Amino acid sequence: MNTAVFRGRPAGEIAVIGLGKSGRAASELLASDGHAVYASDTGEDEATVSAAADLAARGVATDVGRHDLARIARASVAVVSPGVPPDAEPVRAAQVAGIPVSSEIELALAFLPGLSYVAVTGTNGKSTTTALVAHLLRHLGHDAIAAGNIGLPLSEVALGAQRPEWVALELSSFQLHDTPSLDPAVGVLTNLSPDHLDRYASVTAYYADKARMYANARATSWWVTNSDDAIATGLAAQAAGHRVRFSLRDLDAEAAYDRANDQLTLLGKQLLPRRELALIGDHNIADALAGSLAAAIAHNPGNLEDARQSIAEGLQSFRALPHRLQVVGEFGNVLWIDDSKATNVSSALVAIRGMTRPTVMLLGGRHKGEPYAALAEPLKKVARAVIAYGEAAPLVLRDLRRALPVEQLGMNFAEVVNRARELAQPGDVVLLSPACSSFDMFKNYEERGRAFARLAALS
Ligand code: ADP
Repeated sequence: MNTAVFRGRPAGEIAVIGLGKSGRAASELLASDGHAVYASDTGEDEATVSAAADLAARGVATDVGRHDLARIARASVAVVSPGVPPDAEPVRAAQVAGIPVSSEIELALAFLPGLSYVAVTGTNGKSTTTALVAHLLRHLGHDAIAAGNIGLPLSEVALGAQRPEWVALELSSFQLHDTPSLDPAVGVLTNLSPDHLDRYASVTAYYADKARMYANARATSWWVTNSDDAIATGLAAQAAGHRVRFSLRDLDAEAAYDRANDQLTLLGKQLLPRRELALIGDHNIADALAGSLAAAIAHNPGNLEDARQSIAEGLQSFRALPHRLQVVGEFGNVLWIDDSKATNVSSALVAIRGMTRPTVMLLGGRHKGEPYAALAEPLKKVARAVIAYGEAAPLVLRDLRRALPVEQLGMNFAEVVNRARELAQPGDVVLLSPACSSFDMFKNYEERGRAFARLAALS
């Protein structure tokens, strides 16, 4: 669609669907540009109510607890917040009425013409890679920030007085769906696996949204691709521009993991010994390689060598994001690791594979439908003990008990952590990588992770 719709005089009221951080910033951006805005959210929690009040004070029409579908259908454009799936009722109302639907990113890009940005998408590792790209670019002397799905809405960047030199922009598949002007200097696709099948009609539809990153590919575009992932590589194959690869296996890739010599390489030469990267697990090496390539290209696409030294230093000082295999402390000679963000089986799997010491494993929460049997073999190699807790406990027990002993606990998280403490021996790890959502016992995965860290420190 034509982004000019957001500039100049309003052609009619613009509907903003969702009043989270992004919807709020989008509404503010539009209102400050003189547009008539109607912003709505079905949520009625404190944050939504207060966001609506703030916006109302700026002249934005708001609804909390409901969407006025007829009003949305009369809007000139509908701007959709990242958490709202493409088939949500208000989005469908706009589509049925023939109203253009735009992501909040698309809106923000219209207010940031000529922005230099690195786009990061994929099934897993988006936030880690995005944060790393911004961190490395800062090490390379650039004014860089991480924005998008990672927490800072791009509309907030557009509202800021000063535009950063570089933005590392995390994009979910939903955001890609409605961002037709996306045209990054560098695009990174971390990996692809079936996900969000609760929200997409098919895997093909999910991958098709990821492929939208390449929609405006040009001869000057740069694409960072994962050679270990045939489907992800395939999506980029037809795109115009330069391609560079990262791999955990193929030493010919521009960024690679040389397992025999235990080092990360760039253009075939040592970048960093593995032990100097303070991140657990091979999946994080993949993210580190992808981020390094993207930062090197953004710094100087003409000569990736230029960035080598600063990138090595930046990798050394980068730490895990909160709740992603984050070491919360060593108490009683036991290492406590919070991987509360691991809300599906594949995330828990990469965490278990990253363990090098006997591990007391905490699995459970709200079941999301996947079986846990895939965890049995890797757990047999490292588990000191497995504790299943929360709503999913009986299912975890059912799927794993033939392979190894599992202790079942209930809904008291303090009891779960205390039992882990009793079972752990000096030198062990206690790992919370629950493979389930947190909603049976907590508001979100962050709250679960914070509870874990607090209870661990009582040792
Ligand atoms: P996202 O933003 O895509 O959810 P994060 O960087 O927040 O990704 O990581 C979320 C979880 O995904 C991590 O805890 C880890 O378990 C898993 N993960 C991260 N990077 C990878 C990767 N390259 N391959 C597979 N799993 C990964």
